[in-house]
This record gives sequence, structure tokens and C-alpha cells, in this order.
Amino acid sequence: MFDLIIRRARLSDGSLSDIAVREDKIAAVGSVAGDARREWDLAGRVWLSAGWIDSHVHCYPKSPIYHDEADRIGVATGVTTVIDAGSTGADQVDDFYQLTRGCDTRVLALLNIARSGIETQNELADMSRIDGAAVQAALRRLPQFIVGLKARISSSVVESNGIRPLERAKTLQQENGGLPLMVHIGNAPPDLDQIAGLLGRGDIITHCYNGKPNRILTPAGELRASVQQALARGVRLDVGHGSASFSFAVAQAAIARGILPHTISSDIYCRNRLHGPVRSLAHVMSKFLNIGMTLPQVIDCVTAHAADGLRLQGRGRLQPGMDADLTLFDLRSEPCLFTDADGETLNGERQLVPLAAVVGGQIFFTEQGEHSDDFCL
Ligand code: ZN
Ligand code: ZN
Repeated sequence: MFDLIIRRARLSDGSLSDIAVREDKIAAVGSVAGDARREWDLAGRVWLSAGWIDSHVHCYPKSPIYHDEADRIGVATGVTTVIDAGSTGADQVDDFYQLTRGCDTRVLALLNIARSGIETQNELADMSRIDGAAVQAALRRLPQFIVGLKARISSSVVESNGIRPLERAKTLQQENGGLPLMVHIGNAPPDLDQIAGLLGRGDIITHCYNGKPNRILTPAGELRASVQQALARGVRLDVGHGSASFSFAVAQAAIARGILPHTISSDIYCRNRLHGPVRSLAHVMSKFLNIGMTLPQVIDCVTAHAADGLRLQGRGRLQPGMDADLTLFDLRSEPCLFTDADGETLNGERQLVPLAAVVGGQIFFTEQGEHSDDFCL
């Protein structure tokens, strides 16, 4: 006896599958025989994937600059796991942890190497804020919650410190078991060549398609040699769209050259959710559907690849034994206007519309899911 069987769900490759859930785990996938307390037949009309994981968000409610509520950017938009990227450092991470225990969305954190987190925009302008003992103690207190480190390495954040905060971040990473390190890039200094040169296997460059002069492409539109070498070493690219860090021109040129993101993330917070250009993870994913990526590629970027990048055990794949985290969505063919972080627009024709999130077997409908005719369950 299962708790839930979802029948004839359409997977990202177009095939149909049943998914059975027992307690908080996926119990069977494929053609499922047996009964369940609750059964839905989607008749191939609704798409389903492993639960969407947004690798870069901001949802510490007390952050003075980038704040939001986890469930608004999570289950309300089909996202089952969000990873806050450095809103908090060692000084606030316990408070952040406590504040998000009641959320329906799974909330995890990348710890800012500055103990102050993003309390001000220039958290790495003062090297004394990088406190190795405080980082280590926070990791020891919250080993399940903190999945890695975050360092924002652009001129307005590091000011005159240049590359030094990143050198410290790499040391902290090594001192703490080689956990994932996400590095925000933006305006120089430091130059991206210098940043890329320090990164190794598993490190994550976020804001990878930003349109600033210090971007991954040369003025001639080629991939910088330093980034190419970093990718060859196993460095990962994360989108981190945000308010100022995603350019259609850069993303299109990169994708045309086969430089796909490993993970698609939103860098969402209250302001860019309400006023754009981010809106939701689904909206950011839709942009990639309209600039040359396939649906399976886009879905992998928020499921299996996201789980791999942040080493989330038991998530990101539709397999028995995994957490019963699922996203149900619609793929609509309709004209849609998209805007990047530089104010450029793109006319698209395909749009992902999240209908429901399942977290550990518990179902949360989105607003569109509640009102969708395709989704009469
Ligand atoms: Zn950033
Ligand atoms: Zn961010």
C-alpha cells in the first residue's frame, strides 16, 4: 500500500510514468502496480520532474538588503528546495535556521565567509570580518543546514581587498573538508581571470551570464581562456539571474558555443520577484527554453545538476529511495515577453507554469495549479 500514486505523468523527455510515494520517499517509478490512499491520474496532461532546487536565492527575512519569505519563492512557485546564497554569515545563520524551521519549502544555506553576511553591500571590504574560527563553529553547529560557502568577489563588495577574500575563502574551504564554494562575479577588480585561476573542481561561479565588462566572454565574443581552463578543471557555472546579473546576449552567445550552465538559479528576493526581471525560478527557466536549451536540459539544471553541485544527498532524481520531492508543471505555448537584467527584451513562445510542489510526500498547489483546468485531480 502506497500513500500516493501519480499515474501517467509526463516526464521531461516526453515519456509517461507513474510515481508512487510511501511516507516521505519515492517508492516506485515506471509502471506501478498496487493501490494507494490517494491516486491521481494526470493522463499525460501534466509534466512532472524531481522537485526543483533553486541553487541561489535570498530568503533571510531579517536581511536589510536582500530578503524574502522562503515559501513565496519556494512551494508557491513549484520549488521544493531553496539554497540561500550567503545572506547570512556566522553571526546570523543560527537565527536564519530557526526562522525557517516552520517553512514548507526545504531551506538550506551557503554561509557567507564574512561573519556579518550581507548586512551591508561591502561585506568583504574589511578582512577582519572573515573569521575562520567563526566559520568552523557555525559549520559544526549546523552541519545539515549549511551546505557550503559563499564569497562575493566583485569591486563593490571587496573594495580595495582585490583577490585576497577569495584566497581566504579557498583556505577556509580546504580547512573544512572541501565543501562547495559559490563565488559571485561582477565588476572588476578583481579581474575574472584572477578569480577563475583560483577555482577548482566543484567550485561554482554564479552570475555566469552577467553582461558586465568583467564577464566570461572576451570583447570578440569568445569564451575567456581562463574560464575555459576552469571549466576543464571541473568548475561549475550557475546562472544566478538576479537584478543585475543576466544578459540575453551573453547567455545566447555562450549557449551557441555549447557553454551551458550546470545550474539555473534565480538569485530571487522580494524586490526582483515582485518587480522583475526575475519573478520566479520558472520564469528564469523559461528564458532558457527560449534561447536554445531543451526541456530536459533545463529540468536537469534545477534537479540532478543542482543536487550534484551542492551535494544534496537523496534529492534531484526520480528514483526509488529518494526524497518524495516533485514538481508538477505545465509547458504552455503562448507568446511571452521576457526581460533580462540589462533591460533587453526577448519574445518567447514557450513558458513553464508550475502547478504543484510535493515536498516529502506533502502536496502544495501553486495559484495556477489551483485554478488550472488541465489539472483537475
Ligand atoms: Zn551576487
Ligand atoms: Zn545573490
